[in-house]
Amino acid sequence: MKKPKLLIIVLFQNLLNEKPYYARNPAPPLPGILLAGLTPPIVEVEVLHEMVRPINYNTDANFIAISFMDYISPHAYQVAERFRAMGKIVIGGGKFASTFPDEVQPHFDSILVGEAQTVWAQMVYDMVEGKLKKRYDAGLSPSLEYIPPPRYDLVEKKYFSPIVTEATRGCPHPCTYCQLNIVRTPHRMRPIKDVVRDLTNTKGLPWFKKKMAMLLDNNLGGDLKYAKDLLREIAKLKFWGIGAQYSIECLRDDDFVEALAKANCRMSFLGMESLNEESLRGVQKKQNKVEEYKEYFDKLNRKGILTFTGLMFALDEDTKEYYETLPEKLDEVGCNVILPSISIPIYGTPLYHKIKSEGRLIDENITHYEGDHVLFKHNNLSEEEIYEAYRRVNKIFYSWKNIFKRWIKFLKKQSVQESISQFIMKVLISSVIYFKLSIFQKHHAVKRVFNTKKSKVKEKSKKVVNSYREEHLTALPTN
Ligand code: SF4
Repeated sequence: MKKPKLLIIVLFQNLLNEKPYYARNPAPPLPGILLAGLTPPIVEVEVLHEMVRPINYNTDANFIAISFMDYISPHAYQVAERFRAMGKIVIGGGKFASTFPDEVQPHFDSILVGEAQTVWAQMVYDMVEGKLKKRYDAGLSPSLEYIPPPRYDLVEKKYFSPIVTEATRGCPHPCTYCQLNIVRTPHRMRPIKDVVRDLTNTKGLPWFKKKMAMLLDNNLGGDLKYAKDLLREIAKLKFWGIGAQYSIECLRDDDFVEALAKANCRMSFLGMESLNEESLRGVQKKQNKVEEYKEYFDKLNRKGILTFTGLMFALDEDTKEYYETLPEKLDEVGCNVILPSISIPIYGTPLYHKIKSEGRLIDENITHYEGDHVLFKHNNLSEEEIYEAYRRVNKIFYSWKNIFKRWIKFLKKQSVQESISQFIMKVLISSVIYFKLSIFQKHHAVKRVFNTKKSKVKEKSKKVVNSYREEHLTALPTN
């Protein structure tokens, strides 16, 4: 007998977009393929990433599971409503659904609150047997043991590097803007053997896609001993290149840097966020020290490891003078690729509560909470000054001339510390990653930042949102 079918959709598009925007991210997000891996074989599974493919409403799937973030929630409700009207059973989940279940639940047949690993299999059985409950609650911080590997065989072919997994969850730091600090949970680690198993469970992928991997932790270095032990095991897998995300102060530990290099880490995502010490203090990011950046980035580059660094605009202590010299400062500290965004007071975070209590929130349309909008009244800067600085830095940093200049600078730091063939491979892989990431960020800048007259965008988005608002809630949830 034919099995019923489950379609897992990882949403990406924002209501704001009249024309769909497809990102050129080299690696897929983890939730969809992780959920597919947790799904018992009583259903057939398909995973759709809206980042690279539009939703197919003609699907023959019986059940739809939708994973989404906060700013996409109105779009998620719209998608769920359309599928429900077609008679499909629709389930919602993800960080936003887990944090604000009462807001989300009315839009779905059922929701998953918390991490999926302990409740998802039961949900699938109940779904197939027609006994689905309204809500399944996994509780805070369930065990990270016995999580099956993600289904890499279901990753969309358009992704360049399909092998993604995570070794840890949570983070010990108190950064006030971070989603992890809405409800704090302990930093937890998966058994190293499970992570290694994930990274080698690549049957069905073309051989060249098995050679790169990405560890998508919030902070791999939350426990440095664990991180080093894990990296030593990953080194044995002989990847051409891996990427890892961790907090910047981990780079004080030379053994950690060495372990990254030995594991063929070619890219590190780091929450740099600002070159203004005062702004970092203002959001409790005390582990970052601006005077250390140059030395640490250089240390990574000399090992053939690129830096991909977050950079936030509109932090409270930022000034016009700081923005004026920011492109030169980024060059000076030696950032390879940056991920710029305008500060988001994510609903429920300490930053949100501070700004709300000071009466400075100027935009409560949740679809704008994606990093390209000014959302609160700044202490020193006007809205237009922030947009202007955001546009200018994007434009300068991602001009082709500067992309090539930074690449040459990175190449000049390389020296042969291994066999010639290994050296060539190291430089080649770093260069491919460098251009993939730079093009991805440039693409975002061109589509969403350059030449954007915010007044026009706001007008357009107002029209879209207003027509939608008649039927749906688009504002932030209420406390
Ligand atoms: S270091 Fe990163 S992951 Fe950790 S709390 Fe700060 S922003 Fe969040």
